[in-house]
Amino acid sequence: MTKLDQIIDANRRFVHPNAFPPLPKSPKKQIAIFTCMDTRLVDFLEPAMGLKRGEAKVIKNAGNTIVDPMSGAVIRSLVAGIFMLGVEEIFVIGHRDCGMADVDADSIKKKMLARGISPDVIDIHVPDLKQWLGVFSHPVHNVERVVKIIRCNPLIPDDVPVHGLLFCPNDGHLDIVVNGYTRESFAARVAEEDDSYIPTSSGCCC
Ligand SMILES: [Zn+2]
Repeated sequence: MTKLDQIIDANRRFVHPNAFPPLPKSPKKQIAIFTCMDTRLVDFLEPAMGLKRGEAKVIKNAGNTIVDPMSGAVIRSLVAGIFMLGVEEIFVIGHRDCGMADVDADSIKKKMLARGISPDVIDIHVPDLKQWLGVFSHPVHNVERVVKIIRCNPLIPDDVPVHGLLFCPNDGHLDIVVNGYTRESFAARVAEEDDSYIPTSSGCCC
């Protein structure tokens, strides 16, 4: 059975008429979450936050990072959430043991070439592969940075709190990295057990 067959088979067993009440498009708790695509967060992060279906917008990418600070896909989704769907607060949630921390861009480039991706295509479209991939040194550093990027984006209203959290994909606990109400950072404390953390400069980038 192919993976497609398995998915469709599971879906046929899942669907029952009238089993799921219709929900509004807008998030009931007026929040948006921007987090990582890590598989360990699936069906785990939202319950760990006390969130149910229909209560939050969830945006995901590799490493919950932003490589286009002005108008990339993440900012577009957040702007849509705020102005179209009633999002009032944003939660940037990184996680411990993130696969995007300290990725070796050279090794990824070798794998791309080995799979037949043209070196010209890489050079033209992603000349700085490491920057394009959004590689970061530490998940806490990345959460701090992404909170600042969102906070300073002129398309995001100033009255929208942007929180930064760090999630443990093993036991499900959350630590506050940045309190979006006060803009206070607890990054150093959260990362104190990890020697690879290097504090960033404090304050807003704008
Ligand atoms: Zn991750």
